[in-house]
Amino acid sequence: MSLKDKVVIITGASSGIGAATTAKLVEKGAKVVIGARREERLKELADKFPKDTVIYQKTDVSNLDDMKSLANLAIQKFGRIDAIYNNAGVMPTALLNEYRHDEWQSMVNINIMGVLNGIEAVLPTMEKQGSGHILATSSVAGHVVYPGSAVYCGTKFAVRAIMEGLRQEEGSKGIKSTIISPGAVDTELYKSVSGEQAQKDLIESWKQPNKSLKAEDIADGVVYALDSSDRTSVSEIIIRPTAQE
Ligand code: NDP
Repeated sequence: MSLKDKVVIITGASSGIGAATTAKLVEKGAKVVIGARREERLKELADKFPKDTVIYQKTDVSNLDDMKSLANLAIQKFGRIDAIYNNAGVMPTALLNEYRHDEWQSMVNINIMGVLNGIEAVLPTMEKQGSGHILATSSVAGHVVYPGSAVYCGTKFAVRAIMEGLRQEEGSKGIKSTIISPGAVDTELYKSVSGEQAQKDLIESWKQPNKSLKAEDIADGVVYALDSSDRTSVSEIIIRPTAQE
């Protein structure tokens, strides 16, 4: 489908992959509705584009009412929802025996419930339309488990399972689903990592040649999936930096 005038909702668009994807979609002529918790960052991004191309609303994806309200904004402003990219996520990694219960809860609420809330917010509209495309950001960490990342990996495995179930249940109704699984990407995600040293280590590892991607590299994958023909379902895209093990 051509992306011209298509209406796409993106969560986690206040930085990183979500912000880069917003910019790429605008280039392709889409109307983009963006959400995240940092409203000033959303405004800053929306203000870069012609009026009514990118609209925004403060949104916490772990709150179903917030997600429904973001979906309603898209309908009120543009009359339909062609796609949603459930991309918001946090990565406060730590060993299991550190028992960081609050961080576990927050990853479950944002990384898993955020995707489910996004699905629930748009699926009735897409089923009525008889078309739509739901994307979500999993990760290479949705394929492989790393020490210190068990819970984060668990949430990203869950995203892949949920999205595969969605594909099986909704594909015959004309609704596509795509899992976006990035390897290391140089974004602000390190800020959600617990502990100063762990943050420094991650930033250092991203600085090695070809060991990290730019957010725009992932945005290219999202555009590829969204731009595919009606008969094509791009179920998953894994994009790794060339030198990532
Ligand atoms: P960023 O930290 O730059 O972006 C994360 C985004 O999620 C921000 O816009 C943040 O906005 C938003 N967010 C976090 N919590 C919430 C919430 N409760 N409600 C709404 N928005 C929220 O990192 P990335 O761009 O890298 O991350 C995007 C996705 O990519 C995440 O799901 C991440 O797990 C995944 N990923 C990243 C990789 C990497 O190496 N960077 C690798 C593989 C996957 P705000 O704080 O304003 O709410």
